[in-house]
Amino acid sequence: MTSSDVVIVGAGPAGLKAAVYLGRAGIDACVVDEYPVAGGRLLGQRYRQRGHWWVGRKVAQELLDSLSACPSVRLLLHTSVVGLSREDDRWQIRLSGADGNIEAKAVIVATGASEVPIPVPNWTLPGVMTVGGAQVMANVHGVRPGQRGLIIGLGALSFAVAQELAWANVELAGIVLPPFGPPFRWLGSVDEQWSRLVHWMHLAPIWMRPLQPALMRPQWCRRIMAAAPRRGLAVAGTRLRPNVRALRIVGDDRVQGVELVPCQGDAEPSGKPWVEPVDFVCLSGGLRPVPDIVKAAGAAVLESPGGLYDVPVSGPLGETTAPGLFVAGNVLGIEGAQVAMAQGQLAALGTVCWLTHSPDRSLEQERAFLAELEEARRKTLILFDPAWPEVQCRAEQAWRSRGESH
Ligand SMILES: Cc1cc2nc3c(=O)[nH]c(=O)nc-3n(C[C@H](O)[C@H](O)[C@H](O)COP(=O)(O)OP(=O)(O)OC[C@H]3O[C@@H](n4cnc5c(N)ncnc54)[C@H](O)[C@@H]3O)c2cc1C
Repeated sequence: MTSSDVVIVGAGPAGLKAAVYLGRAGIDACVVDEYPVAGGRLLGQRYRQRGHWWVGRKVAQELLDSLSACPSVRLLLHTSVVGLSREDDRWQIRLSGADGNIEAKAVIVATGASEVPIPVPNWTLPGVMTVGGAQVMANVHGVRPGQRGLIIGLGALSFAVAQELAWANVELAGIVLPPFGPPFRWLGSVDEQWSRLVHWMHLAPIWMRPLQPALMRPQWCRRIMAAAPRRGLAVAGTRLRPNVRALRIVGDDRVQGVELVPCQGDAEPSGKPWVEPVDFVCLSGGLRPVPDIVKAAGAAVLESPGGLYDVPVSGPLGETTAPGLFVAGNVLGIEGAQVAMAQGQLAALGTVCWLTHSPDRSLEQERAFLAELEEARRKTLILFDPAWPEVQCRAEQAWRSRGESH
C-alpha cells in the first residue's frame, strides 16, 4: 500500500485544476484516472467563440504543463478507483487490478459525468454509438464514425457534436426525436423536447432567434415546431427535424438506415414511415453525474427518480458530509469545463483548510474563486439541462440545513 496526503479521483478539468492548486502549495497528492490519457472530457471539446477556437485538448495540455512543475503531485493513469472507505481517520482508496490500495488523509472526487443512452430497437448493431462516442472518435482519434449518420435525441450535446462532425466533413441526415416510450418516457415526449430547444436558441440561425418568446409558450412552441419542414431547419451544421421521430434502426449485420416517421405531438404518427439511409447512428439521451464513489464512501447524496439527477450534498468548497471528502466538477451537476475547473480550485482550497485544520480559512481567496465560478457560469455557452440550477440549489439548501441541525 502507498500513501498520499490527498488522492484526486479523476484527471478531467476539475481534478487537474485541483491538482495544480495542491501542487503549487507543495502538498503530496496523487491523481488517479482510469483513462490512459489525462484530460477527461476536455480532450474531445472544441468550440468557435467570437471567431476564436477554444480547443479542450490545448487547455488539458496547459494544465498538465503546470502540473509537471509540481513534483509533489503524481499521476496514476489506466487505473480505476473501485472502492472508498474510511478507517482510523484515513481514507482507503481501492484500485483496480494489481495496483492495490492508497491511503490518504483527504480525497477529492472529480469523476465527471456519463451519458444516458436511449434505447432504440436494434441499438446493438455495429455502427450505433452515443454522441459522446462519435465526439471521441472524431475529435480525439481523428476517425470518421461513418459516411452518413443520424443523431437520435435533442440535447445540448446533439448540437455540439453535430457541429463538430460538420467541421470534420462528416455528413449527417439530421437530428430527430427518439421513439416514444419507456424507460425514459420524457425523453421521447415531443412537448418536453421542444420546450428544451428554447435554452439553445443562441445556436439557432439568426432569423429564428426573435421567435424565442413565442417558443417559451407551449402552445406556440407546438405550432411553430409542428410547422417545420420535414427535411428540418438548418442548425449547428446539420438539420434539426423536430417533427420526425425514429422508430427503429435498420440493418442486417450493421447499420444501414433508420426508420423514421412524421409526428405532430405525442399522439400517433402523422404520416407514413420511411427508411433514411445512414451507416452510423448517434444516441443522445443527455448526461448524468457519476456520484457512485461518493455514495460508496457514505456521504449524503440528494437522490432523484431514476437516478438521473443524483448529486452529493456539498458546501461552497466542495465539502461533503463525510470528513475529508470533497467533490468538484460534473459530479455536482452537468456544466462546462470552465465551471469544472473553478470548482476544482474551490475543492482544493477546501482540502488545504481541512489538512491544516485552519478554521479561519482564506476568505479572500475563497471569494476570488467563487467569483471565478460565477464568471465561468455567466460565460457558459451551453445550458446542458434547464433542471440543473434547481437541483444544485436543493443540494446547497440540504448542506445549509444540515449545518443548522448540528
Ligand atoms: C460524453 C460527454 C461529452 C461531453 N462533451 C462536452 C462538450 O462538448 N462541451 C462541454 O462544454 N462539455 C461537455 N461535456 C461535459 C464535460 O463533462 C465537462 O465539460 C467537463 O469535462 C467536466 O469536467 P470534470 O473534470 O468534472 O469531468 P470529466 O472531464 O468527465 O473527467 C472525469 C474523469 O474521471 C475519470 N474517472 C471517472 N470515474 C473514475 C474512477 N472510478 N476511477 C478513476 N477515474 C475515473 C474519467 O476517466 C475522466 O477522465 C461532456 C461530457 C460527456 C460525458
